[in-house]
Amino acid sequence: MATMEIEGRVVVGEEMRVVEGTVVVEDGEITEIREEEVESDDVIIPALVNAHTHIGDTIAKETGRGLPLDEVVAPPDSHKHRMLRSASRDEKRAAMRHAVERMRSDGIGAFGDFREGGLEGAEDFRAATADSPVESVAFGSGPPEVLDIADGYGASGARDDDFTEERAEAREREAIFGIHAGERDADDIDGAFGYDPDFLVHMVHAREEDLDRLNEDGTPVVACPRCNLVIGVGKPPVEELVEATTVALGTDNVMLNVPSLWREMEFVSKHYDIPDDEVLRMATVNGARAIGAEGGTVEEGAPARLVVLHGDRSLAYTQDVLAGVVRRAGAVDVKQVVLQ
Ligand SMILES: [Zn+2]
Repeated sequence: MATMEIEGRVVVGEEMRVVEGTVVVEDGEITEIREEEVESDDVIIPALVNAHTHIGDTIAKETGRGLPLDEVVAPPDSHKHRMLRSASRDEKRAAMRHAVERMRSDGIGAFGDFREGGLEGAEDFRAATADSPVESVAFGSGPPEVLDIADGYGASGARDDDFTEERAEAREREAIFGIHAGERDADDIDGAFGYDPDFLVHMVHAREEDLDRLNEDGTPVVACPRCNLVIGVGKPPVEELVEATTVALGTDNVMLNVPSLWREMEFVSKHYDIPDDEVLRMATVNGARAIGAEGGTVEEGAPARLVVLHGDRSLAYTQDVLAGVVRRAGAVDVKQVVLQ
């Protein structure tokens, strides 16, 4: 692979330090970040990581609006599952492929998807994402054997089923086990913790004791506040979750929520009091760690997975680069997505 040099204001390392300079990429790796004066005012950030999606829902955009949570998404007979059953496998694959390409062009370099439909669902996901440079992490559903195909296991929730066997199988294979918890109410949170999951999704209804527990065992949480809003389950306590543990961001179902981390970051930054560097970590490195994906930082030795933002669009005249990135940037600002 050729050497590549990208100039601009570079957001470096996990601490998201802004430096002016040149990022040097060789053979898919960032080999140097040279601090120097450069001509370009572009902004270089890590490729974003969407830590929770259901891209199968792409076939059903803008349906299910106004229905209560269980009627929209709970397995096996909710609106979403009926829509998924009524589509052919080719239709579902095409829609998923479309969603991944939209995410890529929007600056997302990796995502973690809870894939419905058991073995077939995981196969469809693999087929749909095989040719994309986006790291597409599949959290399968159904029988434990889904782990032959998927990267990890994504449990719908402790009240839906018993996942003891699936949890054991994931542990045996050193595969990541994630589970939805505390989305509608707090009733499934203890059950979810009982599986000793590698990450929890939602925790809208996290109680004091849950925050203590997160603080003790360090289980990451993937928060999906815009999706929680549109489904009407409330607003997750993101500030408290950030105090307690590592928090990543996900856009959850595609049915009612566009999978844009620009929008998610802006929403989080404006609804909560969270520092800009933390919001950007939530949309990058924290997500990569939670779902076991590569990338998440721009630093020497890291894989070259980054986004170059135009310096002369939304970010022009911005006096604070990180604030501009998390509160202002959007699809229109994406100049180049490097995923090597
Ligand atoms: Zn979900």
